[in-house]
Amino acid sequence: AKHDGKNRYAVFRAEMEQRAQRRMRIEANLRRALQNDELYLHYQPQIDLRSGRLVGVEALIRWNCRELGPLTPDEFIPVAEESGVIIELGRWVLQSACRQAASWCKAGLLDSLEHVAVNLSACQAREPGLMDDIRAILEETQLPHGLLELEITEGVMMDNVHANVELMRRLQEAGIHLSIDDFGTGYSSMSYLKRLPIDQLKIDRSFVHDLPGEGEAIITAIIAMAHSLNLKVVAEGVETPQQVEFLRQAGCDNVQGYFFARPMTAAQLTALLLERRDW
Ligand code: C2E
Ligand code: CA
Ligand code: CA
Ligand code: CA
Repeated sequence: AKHDGKNRYAVFRAEMEQRAQRRMRIEANLRRALQNDELYLHYQPQIDLRSGRLVGVEALIRWNCRELGPLTPDEFIPVAEESGVIIELGRWVLQSACRQAASWCKAGLLDSLEHVAVNLSACQAREPGLMDDIRAILEETQLPHGLLELEITEGVMMDNVHANVELMRRLQEAGIHLSIDDFGTGYSSMSYLKRLPIDQLKIDRSFVHDLPGEGEAIITAIIAMAHSLNLKVVAEGVETPQQVEFLRQAGCDNVQGYFFARPMTAAQLTALLLERRDW
């Protein structure tokens, strides 16, 4: 038994080392990736359930690493956060998304679009230079401020509510819209939500995944609460017609998910915008 324990420990240590190695390689590659154009954005449509119209897109980062191949943001964003690279990476995402949106805007393709959403990480929200960065990017791209929407997860927001309310006020004053991402997975109370300068709640994919069934009660409650606070609701991760039907009946405003469209390249989204097709 003693021998067994020793073996298991050795396996455990080897796994830990492998993980640390991979993490280090991701970090080293990430610093280079920013300079080398290995990163790009995908855009996923958000649709108004009542009209079937495209109302927004969410920018999602993609990385085809030269050494490690394609990596998912779920793997490299945490590394970027821990290493601090996220500040530069987050700035790059904001700038790229705003540049792209501004070019769609100039081509007259965003008439019906309300926003281009960009994810904000925990480190970015804490970074004192964020407002200046955003201002500079909006100035450079000439993107109408109202078109930019930032997604902040409920967890990040609740982590330091006081500082974040301050930041959110400043963003709102600048005309930027705010959406609370992964809503329902954290611990915000209705009394907090009432005081926060936000426009929208984004129901976490896990609840939509539990439709029909366990997700129903939670989603119904979130929508009722959001509407009583004059907030819009968008559901993410919508994959089936049954989920669409439930969300429609529950009064959900907007939807995003594979059922409607997968995240796509800027060129693909341009083609979609040119079609001016409804869902
Ligand atoms: P998120 O913000 O919750 O983004 C939604 C994720 O769900 C995306 O995964 C999207 O591709 C995926 N998704 C969309 N529709 C469906 C569906 O119908 N079914 C399922 N199963 N999934 C769907 P993705 O692109 O892999 O991103 C994962 C996470 O990485 C994001 O979760 C976000 O937290 C983070 N992330 C992505 N891009 C950025 C970025 O530019 N900056 C920061 N800070 N985080 C990012
Ligand atoms: Ca909006
Ligand atoms: Ca998001
Ligand atoms: Ca989510």
